[in-house]
Amino acid sequence: MVDKNKWQQLRTKISIPSKHWIDGNYVDSVSGATIDKLSATDGKHLVAFARGDGLDVDKAVAAADRSFNAGVWTNLDPTVRKEKLLKVAELMDKYRDELALLETLDVGKTITESWNGDLTSAINTFKYYAELIDKVYGEIAPTSKKFFYYITKEPIGVVGIIVPWNYPLLMTSWKLAAALAAGNSVVIKPSERSPLTALKLAEIIKEAGVPDGVVNVILGYGHEAGEALALHHKVRAIGFTGSTAVGAKMIAYSSQSNLKRVYNELGGKSPVIVFNDFEDLQQVAQTMTGIMFYNQGQSCHAPSRLLVHDSIADKLLEHMVACAKNYIPDDPLLEQTTLGAVIDEKHLQRILGYIDIGKNNGANCIYGGNRVHNATGGYYVEPTIFDNVTQQMQIAQEEIFGPVLSVIRFKTEAEAIAIANDTEYGLAAGLWSNNINRVHRVIPQLKAGMVNVNDYSSGNLTVPFGGFKQSGNGRDKSIHALDKYLELKTVCIKLY
Ligand code: NAD
Repeated sequence: MVDKNKWQQLRTKISIPSKHWIDGNYVDSVSGATIDKLSATDGKHLVAFARGDGLDVDKAVAAADRSFNAGVWTNLDPTVRKEKLLKVAELMDKYRDELALLETLDVGKTITESWNGDLTSAINTFKYYAELIDKVYGEIAPTSKKFFYYITKEPIGVVGIIVPWNYPLLMTSWKLAAALAAGNSVVIKPSERSPLTALKLAEIIKEAGVPDGVVNVILGYGHEAGEALALHHKVRAIGFTGSTAVGAKMIAYSSQSNLKRVYNELGGKSPVIVFNDFEDLQQVAQTMTGIMFYNQGQSCHAPSRLLVHDSIADKLLEHMVACAKNYIPDDPLLEQTTLGAVIDEKHLQRILGYIDIGKNNGANCIYGGNRVHNATGGYYVEPTIFDNVTQQMQIAQEEIFGPVLSVIRFKTEAEAIAIANDTEYGLAAGLWSNNINRVHRVIPQLKAGMVNVNDYSSGNLTVPFGGFKQSGNGRDKSIHALDKYLELKTVCIKLY
């Protein structure tokens, strides 16, 4: 990692990408329209980037479709595709500083998180799916000897990838690496709030030798470029990560167009239950503040509801407040910064709005709750903890997507489980307990796609990431994610 004091210098050297990436080249919008992007770190103008619409999407999908039908990627020897995706990972590492800086300027996360967390995970994602390419086998069915039945897996065709702004490079990589490993061609639509790293990644993919047209990036608003992509008749699958409201639209777009497969990874309001048989409350506090305030609380699986047994709540909250003090909002380009900026003014106001709602509804704000560093022009908010939240309150039901933790007290195990499940989301959940019987009793009762016991993480690449209920139907990561981008073909041969 370069000396963090040099980030500002690096900023003056790199060029900020701003155009669509179609068929291996940067191109302007057909309309010539642009969108102004302000940096989350200081609110200053960062770049004016292309504002795509249906005409630009048509061009990108045509390029992807052409490349798919020509077989320039999908028909390559699997070992060759593997080498090229491994090369992508190698080049991402080579351009790690530039990618990390673009991510931080774009979305405001600390440079340390971008460089260590997001970049490392994104690079590992390409390595993982590259290595899978020559390890996916078909099946032979156990049918009568008069027939030879076998099942193969084939790429779907053109895949649309629509992603949010909280982990722009990582969310893109989870879907893109899997879709490419499966042999598809792709059109990516990054969030209009965070367009930069998808473009640099597309350049890298070209440099790694992936043929033109296989990966395309369309910039623009969701209701323009995103909608056109999700409605496109030549797009056969959509890998979507974003809000539940927009995920619902994806399903509607599919039914209005060509019944394309829709894989939704959506929002969350994840509960973590702390039982009073877990003694090390300092460990609980350290872990839970660490994950809750990571990325300024803008994580889909953030444990934003902490359910604490009444008998230990006061003690645990003392530890929580002490730990929260370690997360100090500051310039994300400084080495020591532990909490960066949130994405933009609109989102900042949304978070502050929820903090007001919490206070007005009678929850007790025991730490934080304020905007800070207004003079910088950036969007900074303190880590915030509410005690005495009830499950009926809006701050316990709705996804705030900021550094705001709601603490709900409970008295019995049954009550805790009922509260944990009392939301339409079902992304992640957690529990802290030293009672092995309780642990195994509670896990199957939690309606969530991921359950953490005595820790809280998003797991590693080898396990699926995704949710139950309105947190979505798809899974990113692991070998299972490949299946989203493959069709099963059953072949029957009569033998004489
Ligand atoms: P969002 O739903 O507003 O936008 C996501 C993407 O969809 C963006 O690229 C946006 O431009 C596009 N979009 C918006 N409206 C569209 C439309 N009408 N048609 C087509 N595309 C449209 O979400 P966001 O604010 O960018 O991201 C935050 C959300 O993402 C949170 O709810 C968070 O929980 C969720 N998220 C989920 C996961 C997961 O794996 N489950 C991971 C990260 C984020």
